Amino acid sequence: MKRPTILVLGAGYGGLTTVVNLQKMVSADEAEIILINKNDYHYETTWLHEVGAGTISPDKARYPISSVINHNVRFVQATVENLDVNTKKVETSAGEFTYDYLVIGLGFEGETFGIKGLKEYALSLTNINTARQVREHIEYQFASWSLDEVKDDSKLTIIVGGAGFTGIEFLGELGNRIPELCKEFDIPQEKVRVLCVEAAPMVLPGFDPQLVEYAKTQLSKKGIEFSIGTPLVEATPEGVKIKKGEDEFEFVKAGTVVWAAGVRGNSLIETSGIESNRARIAVRKDMRAPGFDDVFVVGDCAFLLNEEAGRPYPPTAQIAMQQAVNIAKNIKHLMKGEDTETFVYDDKGAVCSLGHDDAIGNAMGRKFTGKTASALKKVVDDRALFLVGGVGLTLKKGKFKFL
Ligand code: FAD
Repeated sequence: MKRPTILVLGAGYGGLTTVVNLQKMVSADEAEIILINKNDYHYETTWLHEVGAGTISPDKARYPISSVINHNVRFVQATVENLDVNTKKVETSAGEFTYDYLVIGLGFEGETFGIKGLKEYALSLTNINTARQVREHIEYQFASWSLDEVKDDSKLTIIVGGAGFTGIEFLGELGNRIPELCKEFDIPQEKVRVLCVEAAPMVLPGFDPQLVEYAKTQLSKKGIEFSIGTPLVEATPEGVKIKKGEDEFEFVKAGTVVWAAGVRGNSLIETSGIESNRARIAVRKDMRAPGFDDVFVVGDCAFLLNEEAGRPYPPTAQIAMQQAVNIAKNIKHLMKGEDTETFVYDDKGAVCSLGHDDAIGNAMGRKFTGKTASALKKVVDDRALFLVGGVGLTLKKGKFKFL
């Protein structure tokens, strides 16, 4: 009898964790496991704010997929171009694939909410190359300011759209990086302006208000300005337009605009034949897509309701990795003709960094700030490496400067 094919799309937290669990549970005789990913490396999406600010190198945040998969897995480096669950066909730049079990883990895309000019003129922290672009763009602006005879100080203004998790973590890194950049490019630091623009009336929604206050104070001390409750309504090549009141607008000239507000699932989902909302699929309790018993969805492409709280779980690496373990087990169950298991989320808390030496967090029923929270953040980052690649990968890529 032909062994079943398990096709996993995307080697992010969700896809790669599914595969490293499957390879331990399923032998080569039992099934063929195929992993398809755009690049031959995995990148730590949760470290992209550091790559974007230039506080770590892009290479620090990635590792070869071959270093964590074994001979049970066939890795194909290819871009998924189209998927259709009705015909069970996945078209990629390396040809067409079919499957007995499919896992969709294609991650997120930035959501621009139709705001004029954002797609064209704002940068983003979506993958390792967009993050690298942010870093190099800022450095270019700073370098050219230094060389210009007639100086345009707006080159040294950085606008960050969004005061959610990604925006705040990026601002924290910028707070550390700006003094270094000023030194590198002979720029008086008072010329630099970093402004965070947020439409919602608060920073870091969902976080404890006391911790949020701490974060805002610490970032303000690093020179970060906030414009809260003021939607960014347009981006142009020169800067951004901000709505300050009913009929009141302000235009801020800026050399760099980074959009860090809002994510949606991968747009390939929208033509896959599965119902979705903002390219996210409302999965069943065992992480399968509605109406398709052979299709699982993991990570940011999945939408899962927290029934207790009456709102969806936020898209995080933490939940993606837990879902992946459940999916690997459920594929094994289906192969054996057994019932699937319900996914139960074990919320271990959240830690938001404010640079390499400061953070806020809640975990184990306690609140943390400062160096303790920052050390905790590094433990969280190292744990993600450990869960995928064990001690070897953790020693190679981990963060060990705790204080
Ligand atoms: P990803 O990890 O993004 O992986 C998707 C994979 O699919 C990538 O390898 C990509 O290359 C591949 N891919 C995409 N399209 C294609 C295609 N067409 N063909 C082939 N391959 C493709 N979460 C936390 O829990 N804690 C944090 O502290 C945290 N901090 C964050 C900081 C930042 C700056 C950002 C941006 C996010 C942060 N998150 C955090 C959220 C977290 O990173 C995401 O929820 C998580 O990455 C989702 O995992 P995923 O597997 O769904 O997608």
